[in-house]
Amino acid sequence: ASQPQDIDPSKLVVKHNSHPGSLKKPEDLIFGRNFTDHMLTIEWNKETGWLAPHIVPYQNLSLDPATCVFHYAFECFEGMKAYKDKAGKIRLFRPDKNMERFNKSAARIALPTFAPTALTELIATFAKLESRFIPDARGYSLYLRPTMIGTQKTLGVGPPGSALLYVIASPVGPYYPTGFKAVSLEATDYAVRAWPGGVGDKKLGANYAPCIVPQREAMSRGFQQNLWLFGDEEYVTEVGTMNFFVAIKNKETGQKELITAPLDGTILEGVTRDSVLALAHEKLAAEGWKIEERKYTMKELDEAANEGRLIEAFGAGTAAIVSPVRAISWRGKLVHCGLKDHEESGELTMRVKGWMEARQYGDDEHEWSYVC
Ligand code: PMP
Repeated sequence: ASQPQDIDPSKLVVKHNSHPGSLKKPEDLIFGRNFTDHMLTIEWNKETGWLAPHIVPYQNLSLDPATCVFHYAFECFEGMKAYKDKAGKIRLFRPDKNMERFNKSAARIALPTFAPTALTELIATFAKLESRFIPDARGYSLYLRPTMIGTQKTLGVGPPGSALLYVIASPVGPYYPTGFKAVSLEATDYAVRAWPGGVGDKKLGANYAPCIVPQREAMSRGFQQNLWLFGDEEYVTEVGTMNFFVAIKNKETGQKELITAPLDGTILEGVTRDSVLALAHEKLAAEGWKIEERKYTMKELDEAANEGRLIEAFGAGTAAIVSPVRAISWRGKLVHCGLKDHEESGELTMRVKGWMEARQYGDDEHEWSYVC
């Protein structure tokens, strides 16, 4: 038998949509509601490997009710964006990171892996084809959703013998259209999102549905998101579906510290997280900041807040880039995160957003930006 095939971009077959959709007004775009004219699909089976990639008109999938994805959650996904630069060129942001994570997620649930550069190349072709959907204004982008599902028709619990990888695209506007709006969080101790040895550090669909009820609970008490804690120590891990950063003044030395949780299996390996850390090393270290990936607890945050040492706190993820945090509800009290009442963001949070956008939109030409 011949070797199973990897994804081969040179075999791409494109079928154009003969009924292209009309464009929404940029200000009417709602996250994840509108999709472009086409989708990228690549089928896999265990005998032949990856088949020829196709770009086809956006359409429904047809799957047997016994398909394994519906029963045992053989599904993983990615979230990344394409941006339009000043010259009208389409750019991806650190796609290598998303491909690496996608492969790790797929491997964990016995779905096939693939050559990362091959899928990046195909996504770039797809994003370029859908270029008309991306408004060329700051804050706008094309959200890309690579998805992989097990497609074998069986109720037997086992590794899927066939899979489908597809990518759909949704034009999106700025997360904060009228400027930053700081959110308040509920420190969640009764539900656990991820644990050492678990799969919370993978981007599996199965990790997301169970977070909706706790989020609804937090909302009902007036808090926008959960701050996920772990263990009796109440380590701070992530916020909603973002990584979490805090800026604190050291109790002894007064040195400013930017702190985020380490990659110990209890957080997702965010591309934004990694980028914020790299930017902080590049730009803040010279200003005397200490940058730390370490465990920290709610108690430590509370103490810093009480002593006026909690400078600011923000979430970090692809959708919003950064999301400033006003306060955290914890053990019946509110831990204030450094913002004055009239402020919606701290200074560092704003600077980070600026640094990130400069690289995403290609104003600050950098190897992180992949020109399609
Ligand atoms: N944590 C979780 C649980 C997430 O779902 C996401 C979004 N993918 C993130 C963090 C942020 O990751 P990224 O910066 O790659 O978007």
